[in-house]
Amino acid sequence: MRKKAASKPATNPPIASVTELVAIAHRVEMDAVERYQLLADQMETHNNVELTRMFLDLARAERLHAEEIRRLAIERGIDAPVDPIGPWRGDSPEAIDLGEAHYRMTPYDALRLALAGEQRALAFYGELAATHADPAVRKLAGALADEEQEHVDLCHRLLHRYPPVVTDRDADPDRPHTGD
Ligand code: ZN
Repeated sequence: MRKKAASKPATNPPIASVTELVAIAHRVEMDAVERYQLLADQMETHNNVELTRMFLDLARAERLHAEEIRRLAIERGIDAPVDPIGPWRGDSPEAIDLGEAHYRMTPYDALRLALAGEQRALAFYGELAATHADPAVRKLAGALADEEQEHVDLCHRLLHRYPPVVTDRDADPDRPHTGD
């Protein structure tokens, strides 16, 4: 089981080379697969067919992506792309705290978790694509960022269809209680 990473600041480790980017990217994509499978399970318990399918589709898309990255790794002679480096050992930028996931998770909650993961990945790849000294890193990171941008956009579109449901559980605890 993954440990909670909630309080850890989202600092990106330095990526020295395409080889390191490939290793991290594989981890990022596999985390996304795991996340979407969990979210699909959650939505299945809600009998939400649309979001169950959507999350399963996204899990498949991220898995294909991970496989592409694995092929890239093999081309580059990297033996163990699944072995993450540095501070992300067991904690990639797409890892999210699913300890909060429970059977009462609404579609809105699920989509917010999905969006947060996609935005973290986009920020990570986007920063590398914009700033890295190595053009090969910038190019690969740019391609990965484009994919994540599509996922971010998809999450936003879905959030329009599934606005938050306000219940007692969701109510802002800081707001004064106005009686019931
Ligand atoms: Zn993604």
